[in-house]
Amino acid sequence: MLVYKFGGTSVGSVINMNHVKNIINTNGKKIVVLSAMSGTTNALVEISGLIEAKETKQAEKQINQLHKTYNKTIYDLIQDQSLIQEVSGYVNSIFKSVLGCVNQPHTTLLHNTIVANGELLSTFMFSRLLQQEGLKAALLPALDFMRIDRTNEPDNFYIKQNLERLINNTDEADIYITQGFICLDAEGQITNLQRGGSDYTATIIGAAIEAEEVQIWTDIDGFHNNDPRYVNDTQALSHLSYDEAAELAYFGAKILHPQTVMPVRTLDIPLRLKNTMSPNAHGTLITNQIHGEGIKAIAAKDGITAIKIKSVRMLLAHGFLKKVFEVFEKYETSIDMITTSEIAVSLTIDDITHLEALTEELEKFATVEVDDYMSIVCLVGNHIIYHPDTPQLFQVLQDVNVRMIAYGGSNNNISLLVNTSDRLETLQKLQRYVFEGEAVGV
Ligand code: ADP
Ligand code: ASP
Ligand code: MG
Repeated sequence: MLVYKFGGTSVGSVINMNHVKNIINTNGKKIVVLSAMSGTTNALVEISGLIEAKETKQAEKQINQLHKTYNKTIYDLIQDQSLIQEVSGYVNSIFKSVLGCVNQPHTTLLHNTIVANGELLSTFMFSRLLQQEGLKAALLPALDFMRIDRTNEPDNFYIKQNLERLINNTDEADIYITQGFICLDAEGQITNLQRGGSDYTATIIGAAIEAEEVQIWTDIDGFHNNDPRYVNDTQALSHLSYDEAAELAYFGAKILHPQTVMPVRTLDIPLRLKNTMSPNAHGTLITNQIHGEGIKAIAAKDGITAIKIKSVRMLLAHGFLKKVFEVFEKYETSIDMITTSEIAVSLTIDDITHLEALTEELEKFATVEVDDYMSIVCLVGNHIIYHPDTPQLFQVLQDVNVRMIAYGGSNNNISLLVNTSDRLETLQKLQRYVFEGEAVGV
């Protein structure tokens, strides 16, 4: 079986939903994971924020506005009268339930319940479009099989068992449609896989059914060698290895949720990125094969906080690093980059939930400096650290205030820490030098 995932833009309009229908209307059984229509999850997050701020009137206004746009979409998408009735009934019930949240105490569960509706809406509407067109499609409710455990990892055993049972108990279909992003937690409460999590849903399902391939269909023709949101003339890469893709996704390449690669890498299931709007473009194939050498791609991750921890003694005493790591372990905060000198350790984190407590504990045995609004720029490529062009990077970036460098942690990655205000210039300079062949010093 194949697993397909279509993102927000791919299901974001009636025209695009019809493109999706054509793409999946091929022989062979498949599971199709859908995101919410583009803009919907953001709108629901905003509504949840208004409820939290007790801005009841504004929350109701925005719920009604969103409801109206969905009502219009139904009529553009579906022509069959009885299906229109059915879809309208479903959409009305969803918006009634969201309106019912307005006067309730705002909790994480309430928030998660509200934001889950985007995927519930898109999958219901799309399944009825397929029915109207005579395709044999069935809905598999993600909340009946997708679950994470106490450590927020997918509960693979539970997922596999329940997904298989659900497929066996559902009417025979060629196309099984399910919601991306949403799942249950270990207590059985509704939660999600974090923003952009539908990609991760697709690979978790791919691993559970040992799919032949997982295809992520989006609004661009594959994984590009630099971030197209910040840099012009980026190019799609035809191949990436699991490690390269995982590293780039973790370090900010928005095309993939950071965890997406993990489930398929273990089972060696190919992961293919394709463009819904241009299905004939090659896209990117991600496997365990390594292609090419030198710097292959660059990504940037914002929202980084740097922490400099100085030993109060003159030298880093034996056992100092252990004490530092124990503090981060206690607060379950992972470290992205790390460098040490004789008297200090500098490291970066992206989760600042426990920053205050971390700092307090570290200050018991060290002096601590915290800098926020930082970005990590990550360069990835096979044996990049040995490539003859690599040393010149430092010349290219001589005018950029590089705050930290991780070089040699792996052979295939170099990470640079810069102020977020310098991120754009750093990416653009690297683009010109690395991919457009501009000479250093120009
Ligand atoms: P979807 O809604 O389909 O999940 P996303 O917006 O999450 O789509 O991801 C696709 C977007 O990721 C692209 O439109 C592009 O702007 C952005 N992006 C960032 N870095 C990259 C990259 N290296 N390659 C391709 N796209 C990237
Ligand atoms: N709809 C969710 C989001 O906007 C999940 C996804 O699109 O992957 O984050
Ligand atoms: Mg996405």
